[in-house]
This record gives sequence, structure tokens and C-alpha cells, in this order.
Amino acid sequence: MEMGIGFLIGVLAGALVVMVVAVIVCASRRALAKKHPTTSIPAPPPAPAPDATTPAANGTAVRADTKLRAKSVTRPLPKRGNTTHTLIVEEVVNRDKVLNKNIEEVRALMLQLATVIKSTETASGEAAEAFSTARKTIDGMTDDSDLLTEARQLLVDEIDRVLQSNAKLHKELDKANQGIAEQRRQIEELRVQARIDALTRIPNRAAFDERLQEYISLLERTNLVFTLLLLDIDHFKRINDVFGHVNGDRILRGVAARITDSVRNNDFAARYGGEEFAVIFPGTVLDDAAQVAERVRVDISKTTFRMDDENIKMTISGGVAECRKGMGPEQIIAAADAALYEAKRGGRNRLCKHGENGTTTVL
Ligand code: GH3
Ligand code: MG
Ligand code: MG
Repeated sequence: MEMGIGFLIGVLAGALVVMVVAVIVCASRRALAKKHPTTSIPAPPPAPAPDATTPAANGTAVRADTKLRAKSVTRPLPKRGNTTHTLIVEEVVNRDKVLNKNIEEVRALMLQLATVIKSTETASGEAAEAFSTARKTIDGMTDDSDLLTEARQLLVDEIDRVLQSNAKLHKELDKANQGIAEQRRQIEELRVQARIDALTRIPNRAAFDERLQEYISLLERTNLVFTLLLLDIDHFKRINDVFGHVNGDRILRGVAARITDSVRNNDFAARYGGEEFAVIFPGTVLDDAAQVAERVRVDISKTTFRMDDENIKMTISGGVAECRKGMGPEQIIAAADAALYEAKRGGRNRLCKHGENGTTTVL
């Protein structure tokens, strides 16, 4: 009987110990759970592997995507008051399903934008408008979930960065374009200046040589005839000797003006060198050009040139020659020069024309 009571007490004591231990274990587990609520959140499904052949494969969106996923795994759970642990897990799983869908959409958008970002960096400007629109759309998004907010922020940061660098690139491009335009203008001005005689402000020898070659080529191609006139001021050395070089220069300017005023716009007058001038008459045969040349000669002979304290008269001599097919620049110049030489030899203040057979005729 005593043994039976003793056995019963032993069993009861053992059961009590087991119960106490169980209560302690449960209590400590609950305490631990309260202290460290580390329910695992299912990671978002893996992002679709970026196409290695597209710029997005190594673009900004890939960097942003990696950051996003790394953060979502360690993100602390939102506080839920007395809700049980299991409930939190279920809610989070459901919510994350929705979030993941949204994240996937945002991610797809980011990948698309990454392609645009890449091309924008090489072809700045094209995507600026698209970025601004995307920026406005994102600003208008109201979903306040952490994942979307973070994705949105990453995207906004990227877009802002690109918009800023885009604007900077545009500014630099504008500046470069302005610089290039200015340089082009200066070069064109220099090019024009290089072909203008500094003293008389009419085309110079370089411009004449260029134009002569052009008309020779045109004659070869299209049969467009032209006549060349060479003019030389008579006894100009004396002018310098008597009135000085400053007055000599003044006369040169005056004669140049008279020549250019006397010929048509289509004709091309230049200072050939020293006190010599040349005129090309495009589409004009010898006799017609000789008539114009004669008019120029008469006009100059009638002009009064003002010196410091007296007025003087000047005369010029000229030679005309028509360019024929097969003639080069030297040959046509030599022909007109031969006629000019004859005009000088014949007494000056006259014109001679170079005939087809090489003879010269005084007009
Ligand atoms: P000709 O009737 O035979 O042509 O006699 P010319 O005195 O006109 O010819 P010459 O070749 O003997 O003299 C040309 C002069 O033109 C000499 C030169 O000093 C002058 N001359 C050439 N270029 C200029 C210039 O730019 N300014 C001035 N003032 N004189 C110049
Ligand atoms: Mg001369
Ligand atoms: Mg002369």
C-alpha cells in the first residue's frame, strides 16, 4: 500500500516537472519570438535575365535591379500590433504577390528606360522628352508600399541624373555648335578676304586665277565662250614720282572703281598686280568685249582724279583676247598681254585685240 502511494506520488511529481519544463520552454520561445520577429519574406521572383545583346544588359537598370532585390530580402517587417506571427506571414505573402507584380512592371519599365538612357548618352537629346514624361508619371504614382517607393526612387534618381547630364550635354553641344558656326564664319571671311585686294577692295590675283580656271573648264564642258581684257595704267611710275605713293594709291583705287562700275555684274574685274587690271567677260565674244573695254578706256580718260592740290587726268591701255577651246590660263593671258603690248607700242591710251591668227588690231 505504502509502495503504491509512493509510486503514485513519484508519477505525479514527474508529470509536474514535465509540465513545468514545457511551460518554461513555451514561455521562452514566445519571449524569443517577440524579441526577434524574423519571419522570412519570399524573395521576389528572379528578374528576367537581361538580354546580353542589348545595352540594358550592362546598363543602369541592372544596377538598380540588383540593389532592389538585395534590399527586399533584409527589409524589416511592418509593425502589426497584436496580430499573430502566422497571420503576418500570410498577409505579407499575399501582399508581396501584388507587390512583386508591380515591381516586375516597374522593373520592366526600368529596363526599357535603361535602354533609352544608354542611347541618350550617345545620342543626347532624343530621349529628353520621354524622360520628362516618365518622371511626371512616376511623380503621380501614389502607391506607398516600401518596395514600390524604393523602385520608384531609384528610377527617379536615374532619370534625374540622365536629364541633368542631358541638359549639360545639350548646353555643351550648343556651345560647341556656336563655336563651330563662329569659326566657319571667320574662315569664310578669311577666305573672302584672302581673295580681295587690300588696297582697291576688288578681287585680287588669286581670285582672278581661280575664276579664270573656272571659265576655262566651263568652256571645255559647255562651249561657253569668254574674253579676257588686260588693262595697264599709262606712265603710272611718273604719278608716283611726282605726287608720291599715297596719291598713286588713291589713283589705283579710283581706276579700280571706274573699271568695276563700267562693266556688268556678270563680268569679273580684278587687280592683276601693280597698276594692272584684268576683266573676264563670260559668254562674250571678242568684238563685244572690245566694245566694253573701249568704253572703260574712254571713261577713265575722261575722269578727273583729285590729287592733294591739283586735279589730273589718266589714261590706260588694254589688250583683249577671246579664249578658245584647248587654251590654258597661260595662253589666254599671253594672248591678251600681246595685245596690250601692241597698245603700249602704238602710243598708249588705246586698246588692241588679239585675233585668232595671232595678229593684233588697234581699235
Ligand atoms: P607704262 O605706260 O609702260 O605702263 O609705264 P608705267 O610707268 O605705268 O609702268 P612701269 O612698269 O614702269 O611702272 C609701274 C609703276 O606702278 C611702278 C610701281 O611703283 C607702281 N605701282 C605698282 N603697284 C603700286 C601700288 O600698289 N601703289 C602705288 N602707288 N604704285 C604702284
Ligand atoms: Mg604695268
Ligand atoms: Mg603701266
